[in-house]
Amino acid sequence: MFMNISHFFPPRRILMGPGPSDVNPQVLAAQAKPTIGHLDPLFIGLMDEIKTLLQYAFQTENKLTMAVSAPGSAGMETCFVNLVEPGDKVVVCINGVFGQRMAENVKRCGGVPVVIEQKWGRAVDPQQVEDTLKANADAKFLAFVHAETSTGALSDAKTLCAIAKQHGCLSIVDAVTSLGGVELRVDEWGIDAIYSGSQKCLSCVPGLSPVSFSDAAVEKIKARKTPVQSWFLDQSLVMSYWSGEGKRSYHHTAPVNALYALHESLVLLQQEGLENSWARHQKMHLQLRDGLDKLGLELVVPEAERLPQLNNIYIPEGIDDASVRKHLLEEYNLEIGAGLGDFAGKTWRIGLMGYGARSENVALCLATLSNVLK
Ligand SMILES: *Cc1c(COP(=O)(O)O)cnc(C)c1O
Repeated sequence: MFMNISHFFPPRRILMGPGPSDVNPQVLAAQAKPTIGHLDPLFIGLMDEIKTLLQYAFQTENKLTMAVSAPGSAGMETCFVNLVEPGDKVVVCINGVFGQRMAENVKRCGGVPVVIEQKWGRAVDPQQVEDTLKANADAKFLAFVHAETSTGALSDAKTLCAIAKQHGCLSIVDAVTSLGGVELRVDEWGIDAIYSGSQKCLSCVPGLSPVSFSDAAVEKIKARKTPVQSWFLDQSLVMSYWSGEGKRSYHHTAPVNALYALHESLVLLQQEGLENSWARHQKMHLQLRDGLDKLGLELVVPEAERLPQLNNIYIPEGIDDASVRKHLLEEYNLEIGAGLGDFAGKTWRIGLMGYGARSENVALCLATLSNVLK
């Protein structure tokens, strides 16, 4: 059979949506290096370096820190399937799409979600968490999203984890969009299980999910009465692949070239410095906000709860959502995100993530929006 299918040449887009973000050309180049065996001693050395670099990015000394060979959603699933056993009560904060997915994960593990529903576009309310944990003394976990990409709201992870600890709960934190973009300190804040993604503020290719577990979380996993229902995500098995110390054995074939890319993106983060990266995201956010103000475009989230790396803005009256986004993509190669869930058709989400958080991107986005809105 003859098929008229040829090589694929993607255009060079500017990615200013909710992810994937623009990938640094150095990271793309790293990915094109020769593939070596995943048990090659040189590759094992690379995995050890990735672990160290991830410990830096997460600000943790957790031994169980690694990258799951799958996207952020698999990092989420890794945390829930390993920690939550049938019957475990989990308080889940829902202030957007990803909190909803956390609750769904709890159910599928046989856990009992106790849901705190919050207005979309707002941070998780610590007082409500406190009250819910008081009313549910048997809860074992508190789960929340640090940076809700669906709404642009940043929650106070430090305070929320402290409340969890006071009530004897382990914390499970979604840091897919926060890692590298805003302050995040796993050890200092007492976070027990955390997952992220490669394709947001790390500006790496999609498909990897950094995770980290505290000693208390590892104890809970070791004390499980039932085996983790997912063989692939079972950390007790993956652990020996990532931390075998001389006896590393085959678990699955690591995505070798994607891990080259992750290594490079983490080296770039370390060279810039974590605090500098956080500050850069904030600075670019303020540049964008000032320009949006001038265009009369309004942000959804109140100032004190805003994510710098994800700006959720109201679409002005009489403007057609889809045709504007299509125009930006076709005429300027510029991708911005559509509203999600409650915000579908009502807002645009402008991402300033990782390598994409640069003045020229801010200027381009403002200029093109100004043009199309005229
Ligand atoms: C993107 C995202 C995820 C899912 O990550 P994928 O890589 O798309 O699977 C989870 N949580 C949040 C907050 C996200 O922004």
